[in-house]
Amino acid sequence: MAADYIYLDYNATTPVDEKVLQEMLPYFSVKFGNAASSTHLYGAAAKTAVEAARAEIAKTVKSEEQEIIFTSGATEAINLAIKGIYDLYHSKGNHIVTVSTEHKAVLDTCKFLEKKGAQVTYLAVDENGKIDLSELEHAISDKTILVSVIYANNETGVIQDIKEIAKIVHAKNSIFFCDATQAIGKIHVDVNTDRIDVMCMSAHKLYGPKGVGALYIRRKDPRVSLQPLIHGGGHERGLRSGTLNVPGIVGFGKACEIISFNNDVQNLRDHFENALNEKFSGAIHINGKNAIRLPNTSNITFPFKAVDFIRHTKNQLAVATGSACTSAENSPSHVLTAMGLSKEEAERSVRFSFGKYSTQEEVERVIQMIASLMEKP
Ligand code: PLP
Repeated sequence: MAADYIYLDYNATTPVDEKVLQEMLPYFSVKFGNAASSTHLYGAAAKTAVEAARAEIAKTVKSEEQEIIFTSGATEAINLAIKGIYDLYHSKGNHIVTVSTEHKAVLDTCKFLEKKGAQVTYLAVDENGKIDLSELEHAISDKTILVSVIYANNETGVIQDIKEIAKIVHAKNSIFFCDATQAIGKIHVDVNTDRIDVMCMSAHKLYGPKGVGALYIRRKDPRVSLQPLIHGGGHERGLRSGTLNVPGIVGFGKACEIISFNNDVQNLRDHFENALNEKFSGAIHINGKNAIRLPNTSNITFPFKAVDFIRHTKNQLAVATGSACTSAENSPSHVLTAMGLSKEEAERSVRFSFGKYSTQEEVERVIQMIASLMEKP
């Protein structure tokens, strides 16, 4: 990769921070113990490191340590949450409420459960990507065992009214699961203020390693139980068996420890959007611009096709036309079409996601790249 190649796809994944990498390295070799073999020093050292990471992650989301279960990432955590709750509670009711703009990990899990007898309501969103709270309230019945709403959308950065949603869900005695994969590390997430019951996260979205994530499961008010997906060995309080990925978990903990909230990324993103608005007002549209959004995400509809922009900038810039997980599908974004964009408008939309290594100079260069396509006859 050329040294001046610009990476603006931080919502797809982030580079591992050097401090995170250094923290992880010993756990591949000298400190290689299995955290479950704590009768000897190698195992005990691994277990201590895992528990320190768990404490750090719990501190980040303001939960108790025992409420954090390690998984291989957010996709697994989502599967564990939704299938695990359905398995345990479907005798009470078989209804799940979710949103049409959720990540595919949620939507595909719900589709899978539909084949097993679940009834799923997919709430619509408005042009800003927000759900209507009274529609949510009406959708929940006494058969609703679970409501799943994403904290912040991975394609647009649009943030839902999580606290209000939780209130409605609890008033109807249902369980609230929240996919906070994109929110954690970018904005403050507090499971107690937000009253989230179950929540997934993933290390690689916050400068930690890929292949490690966690599920937060509330232990009181209400205590949430779920059926494990993976059996064998009884690790993670029986909820997720399998030898723990100790280096990955250590990295996840360190990534949480070094999260820093400042305005740098938001300033870059805002400068980018303001400059484009000034130059091309009327010709571009910022998707979700009237909603509160993540500070790093900008999803823009241009007059040109996203594939042409990507082809044009291929050797200089990494951006996305949708979610990393669905870009292989080559179909227009389900998030943007749910927000009312036509298929053709969705195909003219590009996601720019900034991160802590993004610079002003890079932003200026990207504005120039956009300008050169905008000004083409
Ligand atoms: N949920 C959201 C909102 C995401 O953005 C992603 C990653 O793209 C996932 C879930 C899946 O996370 P993971 O890559 O850890 O499985």
